[in-house]
Amino acid sequence: MRVGEVLTPTIKFLDIYRQDGPIREEINTAISQVIGDSAYIGGQYVKQFTSAFAKFQQADYCVGVGNGTDALEIILHALELPLGSEVLVPANSFIASAEAVTRSGLKVVFCDCDPVTYTIDIDDAVKRITNNTAVIMPVHMYGHPCDMNAVLELAARYDLQVVEDCAQAHGAEYKGKKVGTFGIAGAFSFYPGKNLGAYGDAGAIITNNERLADRCIMVANHGRTEKYNHEFEGRNSRLDGMQAAILNIKLKALEQWTECRRNLARCYQELLNDSTVSLPTEQKWAKHVWHLFVIRSNQRDRLRSLLIKEGIQCGIHYPVALPDLPAYQYIEHKGREFRASKYADELLSLPIGPHLRVEDIERVSEVINEL
Ligand SMILES: *Cc1c(COP(=O)(O)O)cnc(C)c1O
Repeated sequence: MRVGEVLTPTIKFLDIYRQDGPIREEINTAISQVIGDSAYIGGQYVKQFTSAFAKFQQADYCVGVGNGTDALEIILHALELPLGSEVLVPANSFIASAEAVTRSGLKVVFCDCDPVTYTIDIDDAVKRITNNTAVIMPVHMYGHPCDMNAVLELAARYDLQVVEDCAQAHGAEYKGKKVGTFGIAGAFSFYPGKNLGAYGDAGAIITNNERLADRCIMVANHGRTEKYNHEFEGRNSRLDGMQAAILNIKLKALEQWTECRRNLARCYQELLNDSTVSLPTEQKWAKHVWHLFVIRSNQRDRLRSLLIKEGIQCGIHYPVALPDLPAYQYIEHKGREFRASKYADELLSLPIGPHLRVEDIERVSEVINEL
């Protein structure tokens, strides 16, 4: 192999085309129907999907929006908090969690992550509460739910709203209940690579609060009460008919895809049991949906090169903790005070998903066990 030549991966991190193979014809038919019905914005496909997704997540209401980032932002807008209110956000997340806060005129306060689940560390969060703290945003990282009893206790004690970022956790459960309605509302992303992915950008809000659902619908649709009557300035963020029709088909496959992820995760756990890396776990109160299978190793970069050389794609979620990003240097922190900062150098996401088979997991594990 010549220097600089790129090896075609034999085990891909993500392969949506392969994953969707068994339902491709059904999806194509659904797309044709949307075109036949000209149901591009609003309409029956959006209604069908939002009601099916509400049922799937055990929520009373579901509002379709443009993407997951908007879903978070629209919830925060709809809560009508005093400008400058503080929102507790985990340091280990995708930037969207924090971005939605700032974009809503609120203030980001980073909290550390738990060393076992990598979700928000409640002991750290409590230390960061001030008189201005209004919201806590648990992010169900990698598909593992946060410890929601701890979150809800903290929220009750300090009178905080709970807004769940469920972008990586479709179908995940805490003590047998689906995530997203433990607090006032939950935000979902249907970015193509998520466990339930559209063929473009899409997102949703779920809630059991009718008033908040109505408010979110208005915020997402120009503050509109009727066609040309606007009660306040909102924005334009809608789930479109085409994506909704695709999601309708894919939602029917989600349970089976999640079972596949759970099975592959079990394989990794068995095969890597004696390896030098720290393995992710499923807490006894959790149903993990394994959006990502994230291991930790102090030889991460060596391991990563080894895997790439063997044609195995992996990912890093995320290479820089949020407080260390250039975008957040305006927030003062005491040096690298977060364990999330250290983890950013050690985390490695192994390939997992319905596009893979047990043999693929065996191959990846073999390479890791050689380390
Ligand atoms: C993907 C993701 C988002 C944002 O969703 P988009 O649909 O890409 O806007 C928000 N939070 C987390 C944790 C995510 O993984």
